Amino acid sequence: AKEAGPGRYEVFDRKLNERMKDMLQLENAIRRGLEFSEFIPVFQPYVTLQSGRVRGAEVLARWRQPGGALRMPDEFVEAAEEAGLVFGLDCQMLEFGCAVIASWRERGEAVRPMVLNLNVSALSFRRWDLLDVFTRIISRSGCVPSDICLEITENTLLKGEEAVRERLWKLKELGVRVALDDFGTGFSSFNYLRQFPVNMIKVDRTFTSTVLEDRASRGIVQAIVSLGRGLGIEVVAEGVETQEQAAVLAELGCEAAQGYLFSRPVTQDRLFRIMEHGRLP
Ligand code: C2E
Ligand code: CA
Ligand code: CA
Ligand code: CA
Repeated sequence: AKEAGPGRYEVFDRKLNERMKDMLQLENAIRRGLEFSEFIPVFQPYVTLQSGRVRGAEVLARWRQPGGALRMPDEFVEAAEEAGLVFGLDCQMLEFGCAVIASWRERGEAVRPMVLNLNVSALSFRRWDLLDVFTRIISRSGCVPSDICLEITENTLLKGEEAVRERLWKLKELGVRVALDDFGTGFSSFNYLRQFPVNMIKVDRTFTSTVLEDRASRGIVQAIVSLGRGLGIEVVAEGVETQEQAAVLAELGCEAAQGYLFSRPVTQDRLFRIMEHGRLP
């Protein structure tokens, strides 16, 4: 078969080769991007459903390549993880987030509190220096640890060793908040809550987007809401796009929501204007 000549294998090899080249190129571009500060944050507010008040925002990474379009996380987060670069990205976003909060706090006592949520990859939690680096970023920024809420997925504990658990606990002791992201999509979302105390549960968009027409979704949201209530954990529904969804979620007792209905991800200036106003226009 080896002498079969320039058949399928060669074509296959060439394709594989191309793909590996693309991948390497992307990884190198990400590495350079991190070095030259091409990754920037945008902020998506979340609101209390009853009052419409803005409580905080989630920081989402965008990649502004020189001369290029704005690239979305689905184009670079996975590659950053595979290249071992996602910790760098998470740290840069944390630094941005802390600076934003510090400058919000500088406006004086009168400003309302703002919490910023940051996505932290499960891989970042495997870094032995995570605690040192995060603590340093937070403490030299002038923001209070409880202004920060780290969004993790169940993979963080699932794939983590004992050391991961310990890091998470230490961060909580420091006063940092923790949110469980994409809740309900994994197999052990509920079990996770038994192992680790979180401050916030974010109901995944797959449930939010079907809550009107799908009875199962509605039942699941209801279960998550009463679970949150029983454990004293704030529940935030992600990806709310319509008034009807918001109404049903409020009816089910969901406290807070995030999604295009309220606001797309916005710039820092825009976020500050929204926070000054206290609610979305
Ligand atoms: P996620 O944490 O689940 O973030 C929510 C995603 O849903 C965001 O996409 C947001 O723009 C989008 N979204 C918000 N509201 C709506 C809505 O009403 N409808 C719809 N269809 N979508 C909505 P984005 O910004 O593309 O981020 C995608 C994922 O990339 C995030 O999912 C998060 O897992 C990851 N990510 C983003 N920034 C970072 C980061 O700094 N570090 C790490 N490790 N991951 C990040
Ligand atoms: Ca998130
Ligand atoms: Ca999510
Ligand atoms: Ca997600």
